[in-house]
Amino acid sequence: MLNLVLFGPPGAGKGTQSEKLIEKYQLVHISTGDIFRAHIKNQTELGQQVSQIIAEGNLVPDSVTIAMLEEEIKKNESAKGFIFDGFPRTVAQAEALDNFLASIGQEISGVVALDVTEEELTERIAKRQQISGRADDAADKLQKRIEEYFSKTIHVLPYYEKQGKLDKVNGIGEIETIFKSLTTIIDQYK
Ligand code: AMP
Repeated sequence: MLNLVLFGPPGAGKGTQSEKLIEKYQLVHISTGDIFRAHIKNQTELGQQVSQIIAEGNLVPDSVTIAMLEEEIKKNESAKGFIFDGFPRTVAQAEALDNFLASIGQEISGVVALDVTEEELTERIAKRQQISGRADDAADKLQKRIEEYFSKTIHVLPYYEKQGKLDKVNGIGEIETIFKSLTTIIDQYK
């Protein structure tokens, strides 16, 4: 199995690149943000529990997020592999993912971090606000999400670096160029 984590701040292009990667490698895409949004839309119990937290740009508690992620993996028993997008966002989540994958005889193959400067991020995000319609893309909420990234999520990188599983890719440039850089690295994980 090829189990990838695509890592990067809000606006780094994780969603766009994930779409292309799942097609190339036939992976199941697990975007915790997308799953939460679907729950909110369908007004499930989980959706009601997290909608306020997400609207404010805060992180959903680890216990809730981890339980949901494990469910998603279990639902896709016959998958050739997974691409985790927007997860893990904390070291506790990274540890939980490692433990869960180990329990089913699997592991993370590699983690690719999209490197984007804060300046570029701000520019992209301003554009996205005009088109996305996501409540958590409003300027103050987005600022909060970026803060969450730099205060909590960034600490996940050394966790994987210690395991020798971290690679970085320049996330600025043409979509196709970035995709090529990603696939060159990912092909070495196989
Ligand atoms: P995203 O689409 O990945 O930017 O996620 C949107 C929002 O969903 C985040 O700002 C968080 O509120 C919540 N969320 C998504 N993934 C996670 C996660 N792994 N841990 C905690 N909260 C998450």
